[in-house]
Amino acid sequence: MQRILIANRGEIARRIQRTCRRMGIDTVAVFSDADADAPFVREADIAVRIGPPAAAQSYLDIDKIIDAARRTGADGIHPGYGFLAENPALATACADAGITFIGPSANVIASLGSKREAKRLVSGAGVPVVPGYNGDDQSPDTLAREAKAIGFPVLLKASAGGGGKGMRIVASEDELPAAIEAAKREAMGAFGDDTMLIEKYVERPRHVELQILGDSHGNLVHLFERECSVQRRHQKIIEETPSPAVSPELRQKMGEAAVAVGKAVGYQNAGTVEFILAPNGEFYFLEVNTRLQVEHPVTECVTGIDLVREQIRVARGERLDFQQTDLTMTGAAIEARLYAEDPDNGFLPTSGRIVDWSAPEGDGVRFDTGVTGPCDVGIHYDPMLAKVVCFAATRAEAVDLLIHTLRRTVVSGITTNRDYLVRVLRHAAFRSGEVDTHFIDTHSDALAAGATGLSVADAAVAAAIADHEQRRGSQAVLPTMEPGFRNNPAVDQRVEYDAGGTATAVSYANQGGGRLRVRVDDGEPVVFSAVSWAAPTLVLENADGTRTTWRVTRAGDRRFVHGLGGGVTLVEAPRFPDAGAEDLAGACTAPMPGAVVTVLVGEGDSVKAGDTLVILEAMKMEHQVKASEDGVVAQLLVEAGQQVDGDQLLVVVTPDGENQDE
Ligand code: ADP
Ligand code: ADP
Ligand code: MG
Repeated sequence: MQRILIANRGEIARRIQRTCRRMGIDTVAVFSDADADAPFVREADIAVRIGPPAAAQSYLDIDKIIDAARRTGADGIHPGYGFLAENPALATACADAGITFIGPSANVIASLGSKREAKRLVSGAGVPVVPGYNGDDQSPDTLAREAKAIGFPVLLKASAGGGGKGMRIVASEDELPAAIEAAKREAMGAFGDDTMLIEKYVERPRHVELQILGDSHGNLVHLFERECSVQRRHQKIIEETPSPAVSPELRQKMGEAAVAVGKAVGYQNAGTVEFILAPNGEFYFLEVNTRLQVEHPVTECVTGIDLVREQIRVARGERLDFQQTDLTMTGAAIEARLYAEDPDNGFLPTSGRIVDWSAPEGDGVRFDTGVTGPCDVGIHYDPMLAKVVCFAATRAEAVDLLIHTLRRTVVSGITTNRDYLVRVLRHAAFRSGEVDTHFIDTHSDALAAGATGLSVADAAVAAAIADHEQRRGSQAVLPTMEPGFRNNPAVDQRVEYDAGGTATAVSYANQGGGRLRVRVDDGEPVVFSAVSWAAPTLVLENADGTRTTWRVTRAGDRRFVHGLGGGVTLVEAPRFPDAGAEDLAGACTAPMPGAVVTVLVGEGDSVKAGDTLVILEAMKMEHQVKASEDGVVAQLLVEAGQQVDGDQLLVVVTPDGENQDE
């Protein structure tokens, strides 16, 4: 293989490029219009524009991918994860085109891609599976009867599912019809297949998965486990190895089970066998992911094996050059997924412009990221920005290093889960390894937004001084005349900021010699000097000679300030309050940009507070827009299929008997 096309984008495309470069293999990127300026495109040896932002017309279009490979002379295709990675049609199309697909065969992908078929195969190999219904009869009556027979709570799962989609916990019989309908709709929309399976819902399990690797010569090994229990919406956010819950004996047992699963299907290439581990130590097979996994770096850290290199080697027909007994685990590794999402708002994806980005790399720190500097984060793809991976001698040290690294990671301009991740990592239960898949719900109060560790007052001072320095730097006339210089030094300059609803005023007087006397609100004045300002970095020194370093990025009236311990967004207050902005009572707006899936009401309908009016879909989830009060639908402004912006007005509900225009 001389030239590999990577049928993916963002961080995983860059990750695969890294190994290709090391192996002396050319890389071909494919990109949509939305990614034209992305680092993975710039860094590829050849890049091919394949279509508009919508994934269906670009990253999911097999013909375009194969065509791009043909035109560029690529002799291998790596699918990454997501997109086409588990679509057997890509593997088949590669075979037809004489291109090596870097992954298992189309047959294996197809049979393991169906959770139902996978369960059948695996139980045949003697590996424990979760009790449940796995049958062909998909009529609502049969599903209901089987669910009752299994006993509530049950978990409905889309057989073709992935990434937590099409999955519903059902606590009792009366919830069942609505849950079946919703899960089927979600599964049909996401996977084009609404076949359901039903499983006994295992209470308080851990998610523990085993990495496997097989070659075409009959060798198949496991590379130990990854603990992935910290999940929101059935999607992992923190993963680590070794698992705090896995003893050497259990590791051996689970490892043997994972290898048995692989052998049962003649698995080749890298794959992941997922299990849930019950509190009593019993484990059950969940599914096999027939691809590289998002969280593969932690395994690489502790085994020293580059999984992408192994994928390429076995795809070329080479033998694994190690056996099970050659493999050992050294140290502990942990990964946190940094997402553009708002943990205080149901983890909804966010979008916008990243105005400042800095990844503090160092010993034991690995950033796998699609972002390298200021860029736009759109609504078309998965909102994961980066994976921050830390590796140390012990779990406690790896966790500390990850906290330290996240606190220094600068991602300004959009809301992310960065501070949330830090709160999870600092939580006593997490630190003692007491996690299960409900960790986030169980500890939601303790994990709710709190201090970032950076005071708004300190951030406001840094912002005011950075602005002052900026004006000074850009002053063309009278360079020796300091801005803000007044004949009467008693008159301070004043700037007011808003930090999430709290107003903070900074007043300062220039004392000459680079020194500023600064006061926040009614506090005591403090003297600072600006040691240096080279946007975005500001170094301040106080009267004691203590220096602190800040990053201050300006975008319109917003100031993004990052210091030790966190980031704060400040909005410089306008001189006059904005009189035009008035809330429209009963207005139901889109909480984020997305597409309207279903409109459940019509104009003139009576609704009750809490009724769902419109269902939106953005990236990986559905969101229900609900009425905030009882009333009548006075205006319906959208229809199914329509794209909407965040904050766009969708429906107006007016109290009964009242007319909109009155
Ligand atoms: P799973 O949840 O199926 O066990 P992972 O945690 O590895 O597997 O990934 C979750 C799913 O999210 C993937 O199957 C993939 O479809 C999707 N996904 C995650 N990140 C990205 C990304 N950056 N690009 C495309 N798809 C992604
Ligand atoms: P996906 O394809 O979305 O990754 P999985 O079947 O791998 O779907 O399940 C994803 C997550 O859902 C698991 O990590 C676990 O947290 C939870 N889960 C799955 N099956 C069960 C079950 N039977 N009981 C309890 N939790 C489950
Ligand atoms: Mg899974």
